[in-house]
Amino acid sequence: MLKIDAHTHIIPKKLPNWSDKFGYGDFIYLQHHKKGFAKMMRGNQFFREIKENCWDADIRLEEYKQFHTNVQVVCTIPVMFSYWAKPLDCLDVSKFLNDHIAELVKTYPKQYIGLGTVPMQDAEVAIQELERCREIGLVGIQIGSNINDENLNEEKFFPVFEACEKLGMAVLVHPWNMMGQKNMQRYWLPWLVGMPAETTRAICSFIFGGIFERLPNLRVNFAHAGGSFLPTIGRIQHGFDCRPDLVAIDNPVPPKNYIGKFWVDSITHDPMMLEYVMKMQGSAKITLGSDYPFPLGDLEIGKFIEDMNLPKEDIENIFYRSTLTWLNLNEKDFK
Ligand SMILES: [Zn+2]
Repeated sequence: MLKIDAHTHIIPKKLPNWSDKFGYGDFIYLQHHKKGFAKMMRGNQFFREIKENCWDADIRLEEYKQFHTNVQVVCTIPVMFSYWAKPLDCLDVSKFLNDHIAELVKTYPKQYIGLGTVPMQDAEVAIQELERCREIGLVGIQIGSNINDENLNEEKFFPVFEACEKLGMAVLVHPWNMMGQKNMQRYWLPWLVGMPAETTRAICSFIFGGIFERLPNLRVNFAHAGGSFLPTIGRIQHGFDCRPDLVAIDNPVPPKNYIGKFWVDSITHDPMMLEYVMKMQGSAKITLGSDYPFPLGDLEIGKFIEDMNLPKEDIENIFYRSTLTWLNLNEKDFK
């Protein structure tokens, strides 16, 4: 069976020294300190150590073979977004990353599908790069759950979503720049608590801000099974019902109406939670995801789903059909 991992990250082996080039800022660079490993550095600060499966296309394919997964949807690591930088400098960074992914897709058209990154801090520049992404063979973009702490429903971001709909480019919303992280550094809480909250913030912004309502053909996928959105939808709906004066101010449509209209990935690490997400969303709106190659990901690429004894149709939906629909691609192109 075709198996497509819709949520994985990749980075070029070598990055330019953008801080030197632009003369400011803590842009990410890589220190290849030992064979097969690199330190991601943010200015002089160590961010995380990555392995060669973060940049080596062949090693990735080899590792995926163990889990019978043929295709990877790749996008950059969210720390590379660089939304804080000057728009044209962020454009420079984005182009470098997007060209790398486009090259990869060209070399391995049946194994890799690419999503780009764009300077969301400036809609005009973002749309310019979005159009270029489409021309070089990328099928969508990955964006952060907030842009420099601003919610995605801010009117200034709307033209980018409008352009995505018009150009048929899909969107993956990935949690980043987590709320409250300064106050909860201990116990990895930004990743364990902040990330699911960020994704919920993004979905609520799309719903309450009326983005889904205004752009019914925009195809959006939210990482990590939608974060805590689906598990807390009862509360969110009740909030909408009991305090419409606070919640329904920009869009009168109840939040529950949007369930099943967007995609989420399968990264729950828990069969019971995935069953719940399936009940809410339907398997046709759940894309297999792993967050490979990072440790918090499902690095057995959906093995727990294979072990769940689900009906064949649900497995096929999650393993490839939902991703093909989300990205508007054809099964035959990957056979
Ligand atoms: Zn991820």
